[in-house]
Amino acid sequence: MKNDPFLNAQKQIDNVAKYLNLDQKTLARIKQPDQVLKADLKVKMDPASAGQAVYKTFKAFRSQHNNSRGPYKGGIRYHANVSESEVKALSTWMTWKCATVGIPFGGAKGGIIVDPKTLSQGELERLSRAYMRAFYKHFGAFKDVPAPDVNTGGAEMSWMLDEYEKLVGHQEPGMITGKPLELGGSQGRTEATGLGGLYVLEQLRQTWKGRILPKNTTIAVQGVGNVGYWFIEFAKKAGYQVVAWSNSKGGEYKGEKITNEQLLELPVDVLVPAALENQITKDNAAKIKAKYIIEMANGPVTPEADEILHKRGTVSLPDVLCNAGGVTVSYFEWCQNNAGYYWTKTEVFAKLKAIMDRAFKDVWQIYTSKRVNPRLAAYILAVDRVVKAMKLRGR
Ligand code: NAD
Repeated sequence: MKNDPFLNAQKQIDNVAKYLNLDQKTLARIKQPDQVLKADLKVKMDPASAGQAVYKTFKAFRSQHNNSRGPYKGGIRYHANVSESEVKALSTWMTWKCATVGIPFGGAKGGIIVDPKTLSQGELERLSRAYMRAFYKHFGAFKDVPAPDVNTGGAEMSWMLDEYEKLVGHQEPGMITGKPLELGGSQGRTEATGLGGLYVLEQLRQTWKGRILPKNTTIAVQGVGNVGYWFIEFAKKAGYQVVAWSNSKGGEYKGEKITNEQLLELPVDVLVPAALENQITKDNAAKIKAKYIIEMANGPVTPEADEILHKRGTVSLPDVLCNAGGVTVSYFEWCQNNAGYYWTKTEVFAKLKAIMDRAFKDVWQIYTSKRVNPRLAAYILAVDRVVKAMKLRGR
């Protein structure tokens, strides 16, 4: 039970509650999702040979954590390790992420227990449509807005949108984000998370005038997938020195081969974990030499490591701030869909910068005034915003 993600999410709320003087009723309410939906999806499998149809059943979830600041928002993942505890934790974190950057959404998360690599395209389509049939009454542009997550993307979002619109009898592109451009997706979504991280680094540079000069600032990036790739592209363009990178097979530092463990402990100024969770733990936190950590992956630094880093003077900026560029551009997609009016990539990037800059300043203000670690600062900001909205609604 020690690594139960939902228990961890609840523990974090208890920590924040001490700073906000929350009453027991409010605390109890935000520690539980508003609603957890479950279904068994019966899906027709491809016939191995002509004859009787074969059906398989897949367990599916949707956790809706809190909607006091706006419709529930969060991805749907397809993975063998999906569990009720995981979707509940992820939905809680989505509430805090949307509140940290101040976009008008609550938090949700969905998932199906499945290894999608074992399914054909047709089976994946029938599974995605079955998910929407099970839960469509709970989705909608102004109710709950899903998005891609681990092992889902534009194709799954397109099937789900199509199924939803068939069921409700009208077009409603704002009911789901992460759609291909042809179905109402937003310009700039692909680059958004990496670029949002660079905007955070730029804010740090401007806040600490003189301490960070791009041409003298070295960066190591763990994971060059969608997020890491775009972070590196934009960082290089801004003049920073990206001296090390890695992927699942290992990495390189100034031309030399290195392991992932070595990458984390390099003598660089900025470390950017952009791959997996739980990379910096109590075991290696004291060996981290970087002065700044920009958390681009979800959960790369454990709570114990956070405290060690903070005491050593390392500034570790949390995922709910650094990687929120993705959900922010999903919010822009929703805005464009609801208005029926589409923006250029230049407009999307400018609006993203405005939101990331303001979020950084809000978190930084609490970090410096309360002298807590940056993650706790972001959580204090987020929980306070959510609780204020709840009180105004009389909840
Ligand atoms: P991705 O699948 O495109 O890339 C992941 C990368 O990590 C790959 O390059 C892979 O080789 C590498 N990797 C895997 N195991 C590794 C290891 N042990 N050491 C080093 N590298 C390893 O995924 P992504 O979309 O870039 O997402 C990366 C992280 O960012 C995830 O934690 C994800 O939840 C988070 N995130 C992504 C987005 C988004 O918009 N894509 C938004 C918010 C958060």
